[in-house]
Amino acid sequence: MGTDSLLRGEDMARPEILKCVLCGREYAPEHGRYVCDSCGLDGTLDVLYDMHEAKKLVTKDSLSLCRDMSMWRYRDIMPVLNDANIPALSVGWTPLYENKWLASKYGVRKLYIKDDGRNPTASLKDRASAVGVAKALDFGQKTVACASTGNAASSLSGFAAVMGLDSYIFVPEKAPAAKVTQLLVYGANVVLVKGDYAKAFDLATAAIEKFGWYNRNCAINPFLVEGKKTCAMEIAEQLNWEVPDRVFISVGDGCCVGGLYKGFRDLLELGLIDKMPKITGVQAEGSSPIYKAITENSERVRFGPADTIADSISVGAPRNWAKALRAIRASEGTAVTVTDDEILSAIPELARSSGVFGEPAGVTGFAGFRKMALAGEIAPDETVTVVVTGNGLKDIESAKRSVGQALSCAPDIDEFSRLIDQRRTDK
Ligand SMILES: *Cc1c(COP(=O)(O)O)cnc(C)c1O
Ligand SMILES: [Zn+2]
Repeated sequence: MGTDSLLRGEDMARPEILKCVLCGREYAPEHGRYVCDSCGLDGTLDVLYDMHEAKKLVTKDSLSLCRDMSMWRYRDIMPVLNDANIPALSVGWTPLYENKWLASKYGVRKLYIKDDGRNPTASLKDRASAVGVAKALDFGQKTVACASTGNAASSLSGFAAVMGLDSYIFVPEKAPAAKVTQLLVYGANVVLVKGDYAKAFDLATAAIEKFGWYNRNCAINPFLVEGKKTCAMEIAEQLNWEVPDRVFISVGDGCCVGGLYKGFRDLLELGLIDKMPKITGVQAEGSSPIYKAITENSERVRFGPADTIADSISVGAPRNWAKALRAIRASEGTAVTVTDDEILSAIPELARSSGVFGEPAGVTGFAGFRKMALAGEIAPDETVTVVVTGNGLKDIESAKRSVGQALSCAPDIDEFSRLIDQRRTDK
């Protein structure tokens, strides 16, 4: 399939080709095209645009005039064909907070926290789901489906709801109650799969094939990473196009880390930034196949166990491994692991120093930053951005384990005074 037959001459730098990350084979962005024919499920596809066109449309000036304070401000370099298919639920343009206190505590020049828990269903997954739902509609589909550790599911069901699509969601039966409740509230058809995420993934894949639904699995559907890439674009724009030296983000399937890389790479190609930040992927020790492949310098990822309190990154078989490895290697970043205890202690530390309350996987990037900084592996002149990928209210059981008890008191000022005195002497 040539690149010249598709949608040329329109006023958008529409996706021209899908290109396999492993073998480089190219495909048309047609309905039903998810992965490479030669490489199978490992051969995830990049969405490539007409950069000549895009350069005319996506400029510092056009963006500074743009009043769309959502991820769709990058619409001209996103894959959606029909504006009417863009869900009317505001996603992206999440805050980027500078934190001087943490920067000085951990000895870096500047530290920024990108709070993606502020998205409409409270995780970064909304960036991908918004594109997924728009693509389903572009292709005339009425039903969307995915397997998920929880957040992709609650996100997809929210975006499906707002656009009137049916959704079928497969989650591991142990997914946190808040996430399952979110699904049910949005009206998804929820399937609790007896088994882990890998089992849910396999059942979803079989069901999607059998029933012909639109597949929102981010590690399969090439368009979804195009939603996640907007997180990187926002970081760059919010820092006035001076990208940080290093970005930390948690890694499960590898779509978020792959999305960051794609976003920065598109910006480099557009000439809007002049360097690629070192992308640092953080995994939980009990679920770290990407970390192992990076440290062992291996070409492929060996699937392994998945055992961590951070359910969103409890992924033993990362399906987007090829994009994840490329993101870390091509950006000269690295991978690091943290223990569940380090993840738990990062929850109150981040909340108490920045006001940002993350779920376990949400703060894993911060936990990785802290660990590398304490080990002296980050230079004091570096500027760092940490992405918080999901909101803490998603999993309060874990958050509770990271904090102490409240005072319990009768409605009596004398008893209260005694408790306060007691507490002061305890300290
Ligand atoms: C999905 C998710 C991740 C990991 O993203 P991958 O693309 O699977 O690597 C991290 N944090 C949260 C909160 C998530 O929901
Ligand atoms: Zn291929």
